[in-house]
Amino acid sequence: MSQYEKYGEYLKNNGIRASSQRILILKYLNENNNHPTAGKIYDELSGKLPTISKATVYNNLKLFLENGLIKEINIDNTETRYDFNTEMHGHFRCKNCGKIFDIKIEELKLDTSDFSDFQFDSTDVFINGICPDCLNKN
Ligand code: ZN
Ligand code: MN
Repeated sequence: MSQYEKYGEYLKNNGIRASSQRILILKYLNENNNHPTAGKIYDELSGKLPTISKATVYNNLKLFLENGLIKEINIDNTETRYDFNTEMHGHFRCKNCGKIFDIKIEELKLDTSDFSDFQFDSTDVFINGICPDCLNKN
């Protein structure tokens, strides 16, 4: 089975009809797990597939989100970014270069005893700081 077919199979197993555009978007997210924005995904893919539109990218990202294939993250409150890694993990954001790195979470202990009547939708762990590359430049 080709890599292309594997992505198609993965989409089908998640209840999504496979198309070449969907496969390309998913493949891009898997191979570039640096938390791209929709705009970045569009820019990169439009070179390979001139017929792809911004709307196609947005609509398919929405579809992947709804089916749990990807996660969306809002770190800087400016642009939504997309993450192929749907496992529980945190993010480190370099305030100098803006790069975002995954941080493994072994165990997250929150005292939720005062929140019994709240609805929790998602948990995000963000750390801001400066990455080693930027630290070494100074
Ligand atoms: Zn940096
Ligand atoms: Mn991540």
